Amino acid sequence: AEKKSSEKTYIINTDTTFAPFEFENDKGQLVGIDMDILKAIAIDQNFVCEVVPVGFSAATTALEAGECDGVIAGMSITDQRKEKYDFSDPYFDSGVGMAVLADSDIDSYEKLNGQNVAAKIGTEGCKFAESIADKYGFTVTQYEDSATMYQAVLAGEAVACFEDYPVVGYEISRGLGLKLLPTIEAGNSYGFATMKGENPELVEMFNKGLANIKANGKYQEILDTYIAK
Ligand code: GLN
Repeated sequence: AEKKSSEKTYIINTDTTFAPFEFENDKGQLVGIDMDILKAIAIDQNFVCEVVPVGFSAATTALEAGECDGVIAGMSITDQRKEKYDFSDPYFDSGVGMAVLADSDIDSYEKLNGQNVAAKIGTEGCKFAESIADKYGFTVTQYEDSATMYQAVLAGEAVACFEDYPVVGYEISRGLGLKLLPTIEAGNSYGFATMKGENPELVEMFNKGLANIKANGKYQEILDTYIAK
């Protein structure tokens, strides 16, 4: 469809490296479950949006500064965040896991005593790590994005990292030299976020479009593209 000059282009910020939700493919294109869901919903609901990959904490900062209209970034719907943001209906269930080197003998939080762990700024994984750091006697170093956080563990700067398990699990399945501990914490679901009260029509369109792409099979098709059955 041709774009009318009066038509608003919504600016949507996202993370940089958060596969399988958003990541650059080998052609340099930003792809992933979030990207495809948003595109399918925009087509279904007939709105125009431009996606900008800025990083997770930068995305929420930009949202709060009014520099973008919404954030889709594997963003967990939490009660605390609901005080500031309007969330769409949940579109993916997730939670936080702890990953260590593939040959590490760390198999419990107790073994983190006296060690340093890595986490990503502004995330639920970071919040969880900090919430148990004193109890188990470890320190937390924060990283800007998931890729540098994994690198810190591979390089031995940290003995573990806390990250959403579907995300680190995806990287492990693609050859990242880490392993996930079986315990999953801080279970939550991902939602699309806007500032509270700022873009109610956008959240409404997202919800309607999400329901439609679930009903017509597009949503499942997108998941199947990125997650092996
Ligand atoms: N789901 C996590 C959160 O909302 C991490 C999101 C991300 O790193 N993109 O905190």
